[in-house]
This record gives sequence, C-alpha cells and structure tokens, in this order.
Amino acid sequence: MKIRELYNENRTVLSFEVFPPKKTSGVETVYKAVEELKDLKPDYISVTYGAGGSAVNNFTCEIASLIKNKYGIESMAHLTCVNSEKSDVDRVLKELKENNIENILALRGDRVPDIEPKTDFKYASDLVTYIKENGDFGVSGACYPETHSEAKSQKEDILNLKHKVECGAETLVSQLFFDNNYFYDFKEKCEIAGISVPMCAGIMPVTNKNQIERMVTMCGASLPQKFVKMIQKYEARPEALIDAGIAYAIDQIVDLISNGVDGVHIYTMNNPYIARKITESIKGLL
Ligand code: FAD
Repeated sequence: MKIRELYNENRTVLSFEVFPPKKTSGVETVYKAVEELKDLKPDYISVTYGAGGSAVNNFTCEIASLIKNKYGIESMAHLTCVNSEKSDVDRVLKELKENNIENILALRGDRVPDIEPKTDFKYASDLVTYIKENGDFGVSGACYPETHSEAKSQKEDILNLKHKVECGAETLVSQLFFDNNYFYDFKEKCEIAGISVPMCAGIMPVTNKNQIERMVTMCGASLPQKFVKMIQKYEARPEALIDAGIAYAIDQIVDLISNGVDGVHIYTMNNPYIARKITESIKGLL
C-alpha cells in the first residue's frame, strides 16, 4: 500500500521511525526493537538511511523488508542522494522493489565532511523526480517547520518545498519541533503557497540531556520555556526525565490531534518502551 492512501481514511495517521545500527553487530538490537514496535500497530514504520553511502545503508532495506514482509506493517525506506550517482539509486530501487517495499522518503541528505558530493542529484526534488520516473513507488519528502538551516528565508524554503511536491512528493514528514506553534504557522503558510499534500508532524520524545544538545545542534529546533524548565528540573534524575519527556511528547501530540493534524511521526530512537508509553496514551484519540 502507498502511504498516501493511509490519509484517505479521515483520521490521524500514526507512524514510527527507526534507524539501522551503526555497526553490523547492532542489528539484533534493532530487530528486537522492531518486534516490540509492531505490537503497537502503527500505520507504518520508516527506516532511516546513512547519507555517506556507508555499509549502514544495507540495513535500511533489510529492516524495512522485515517490517513489511514478516510483520505485515507498511514500511517506508529513507533514501538520500547527496553522495549517490544514478547507478547507486538504481541499485537501491531494485533492491526495494525485490523486497516488496513500496514507499520511499526521498531526501537529499546532509553533506558528509571529507566526502565530495556527487553531482547527479543536487536536491531531494531531483531524487523525487528520478524515483517517480523509474519505478512505482509512493514518495514522501521532508519539510521544516522552523526552516531548513541552509535556506535563505522561510519563503524560499517553502517555494522549494512546493517544487518538491510538484515533482511527485505525495506526503510530507516534518523535522522535529518542540513548540507546536511553529508547525501550525508553517502549515498555514504552505497551504497559502498551494501545498496541499498531507503533512505529518515529527515528534521526538526527549529522554536525556545529551540527546537534546545533539538534536538542537543538528536541526536547530527552538526550545520553549516550559521545555527548558522541564529539562532543568529533571536533568539530574534520569528516570524522572524519561517520564517528563514522554509526558511532554504526549502533550504535544494531543494538541496536534485536537488541531486536526494529518499524521504524527514518532522518532522512536529504537526505544520501544517510550513508543509504547506514548502510543498507549494517544491511541484512542487518533
Ligand atoms: P532538500 O529538499 O533538497 O532541501 C535542502 C535545502 O535545499 C533546503 O534549504 C531547501 O530550501 C534547498 N532547496 C531545495 N530545492 C532547491 C532548489 N531547487 N533550488 C535552491 N535551493 C533548493 N538524513 C539522512 O542522512 N538520512 C535519513 O534517513 C534522514 N531522514 C530524515 C527524515 C526527516 C523527516 C527529516 C526532516 C530529515 C531527515 N534527514 C535524513 C535529514 C536531511 O537529509 C537533511 O535535513 C538535509 O539537509 C536536507 O534534506 P532534504 O531532503 O530536506 O533536502
């Protein structure tokens, strides 16, 4: 099934994201996490992809295949293009097709230091076009409620996003954010610009202080006062911080659902405990 069809059912779509292991030895841990996540019955699970074209990439298809073919849950394989030539993408598309994977999150990827980017695909929209021309895949794209870090302005970023949708991105998944107002404001501006495809809100339950510092450096998400206060209060009590981070994510999701969000995409960090706590609290609201 194409992810786009899930949005025809007039309810909030719930999805999870998992990432492949950094080393081959870690794959069993991911399999175990997926086995637990499947019991939560999300609408789909997406699997990230390494931007650098490393061996990690092999596991994206393998894990997405497990989700779809063993557990019967729709899967979406992320695919980046910044370090790929067309022949590399052809190889991945073939592998995905052979494994019955129908959905791809088409991304540019971040430039990796010391690796000269390839020139076949400059932007994610080039990859979206290429996938659409070379296979029968449902294609999604990424979007940024607080503007992508390289964009000159939000207006330019939204116009580039519109182009990505016109190239064939059928649904969008957002970067994580901790203040829902950024998402609402961004969505409204996208609608005014003529972007009407379903937009799924990316929610990252924050459960330790290092994770926050890493995330903020990587994606520049703003931290609202109530979030900062929560971290300050519980940073020295790791277990309490997990509970607080889960409660914060649930609060965000309840507000998003109340405001009619198309979908919620939980960055699970391969942690089924956290995904379970959140899902159990919101399942009846979807
Ligand atoms: P693009 O859509 O190409 O946008 C990148 C920048 O280029 C933006 O500033 C945009 O405004 C600009 N731009 C776009 N088109 C044009 C144009 N035609 N002319 C001029 N400027 C243009 N990274 C990974 O490595 N692996 C993953 O699995 C992964 N998963 C992700 C999942 C989600 C939901 C999100 C939000 C991000 C993910 N990323 C992942 C990170 C992503 O690769 C980076 O954010 C990357 O910097 C941008 O990717 P993009 O696909 O959004 O790029």
